[in-house]
Amino acid sequence: MRFRRTMTVIVGVFFLVFGWRTVTLALHSLQNHPDSISSRQEERFADVIPAYSAQKENDISDTTEEIILVNKDHPLEETYQPDLVKLRDYGVEVDREIYDSLLSMLQDGEKEGLEFWVASGYRSMERQRELLDEDIEALMKKGSSPSEAYEEVVQETMPVGCSEHATGLAVDIVAKDYQILDEKQARTEEIQWLQDHCSRYGFILRYPEDKEDITNVSYESWHFRYVGVTAAKEIMEKGITLEEYLDRIDYSVE
Ligand SMILES: [Zn+2]
Repeated sequence: MRFRRTMTVIVGVFFLVFGWRTVTLALHSLQNHPDSISSRQEERFADVIPAYSAQKENDISDTTEEIILVNKDHPLEETYQPDLVKLRDYGVEVDREIYDSLLSMLQDGEKEGLEFWVASGYRSMERQRELLDEDIEALMKKGSSPSEAYEEVVQETMPVGCSEHATGLAVDIVAKDYQILDEKQARTEEIQWLQDHCSRYGFILRYPEDKEDITNVSYESWHFRYVGVTAAKEIMEKGITLEEYLDRIDYSVE
């Protein structure tokens, strides 16, 4: 009798526990499963879709093979011809490749109350030659020899073919109410915002402070170069130059 009662209790407890577990599992899957799957899928798509489209829109020159290096050691070929479009409101031309990204960057900054001026975009090699000649001539009038004058001028102005402006992929952007290209430009809200946000749009600060030994160009807080979002983010986050970035990924630059 006592044994039977014990068995009944044991069996009862077993069914109670097992039955309860089955019910809670069923409830759990009913309540959570369908929702949790769809919300997880939604999250996944939310992550993937905007990133993918942003990449499609902004990241045209995203593969490193397509990043053109232009500096004093790597002049552009004289025959290089960018696909130029006029940047509305600013009267400068840029390569079609950077047009949308550049406008998005400027418009997003304007939404923050900033006012920009695009001081330079594409500059032909011919125009670069004229600028150099003018400066050389001015120095020669002050008594420098032609070679002395040239050496001095190319410290500040890029030799023909060595300016990124000839690619149409670089722009000089300044604050609308302070357009002088000097060290004070770096302290304008516009430049500070651009330096903080440019990589999101595929642009880098091309000639950073304290990198003159690598770029061979003194700090230009206003000169932004389009390299695509992936490269731009890495370059700006690590605080490196385009030269260092291309070296690191073993990009052959002849
Ligand atoms: Zn520039």
